[in-house]
Amino acid sequence: MADARIAWNAIDHTGERFGQWEVFKRLGSQKWGCAKYLCRCDCGKEKEVSGRHLRLRQSLSCGCKRNHLDNPKTKPSEHPKIIDIAWASGIYEGEGCCNKTVQGTMRVIIGQKDPYILHKLQSLFGGSVSKTRSKSNFNVWNLYSVRARGFLMTIFTFLSPRRKEQIKLAFSN
Ligand SMILES: [Zn+2]
Repeated sequence: MADARIAWNAIDHTGERFGQWEVFKRLGSQKWGCAKYLCRCDCGKEKEVSGRHLRLRQSLSCGCKRNHLDNPKTKPSEHPKIIDIAWASGIYEGEGCCNKTVQGTMRVIIGQKDPYILHKLQSLFGGSVSKTRSKSNFNVWNLYSVRARGFLMTIFTFLSPRRKEQIKLAFSN
């Protein structure tokens, strides 16, 4: 048993994916020997998860999977006007990107040092804002699924040809 524990702890899961979790940092071992990891859920929430729970697939997300579209925390609180859409397009043009998660969910990410801008985006278009622990003083706005698609379609006409191509590519993958 002790040997098996040592063998498991020799594995570093950093960079791997387990369900919606993306493992981005190995933390110290727990009292009884199993390593803990700092993981980021596809919804943007970060949590410490034990390596054992990841390997046994006992933890596959922060728990948001079924309800994050209905979650009032990820719903927009304002109705964007045309000027808001133009403003958001400019931010996305400079700092944004989109891709698909392993599960095929569309994702929009915008990173900023100043969370003010990200909270404004959140109130206009929904999603969540989180602080990255890997890079201190850096914040990320995450938008998923139907909302991410809606956002990209809404800002599309304002974007440069290069950005439009990236979005078309993400939609077709
Ligand atoms: Zn989540």
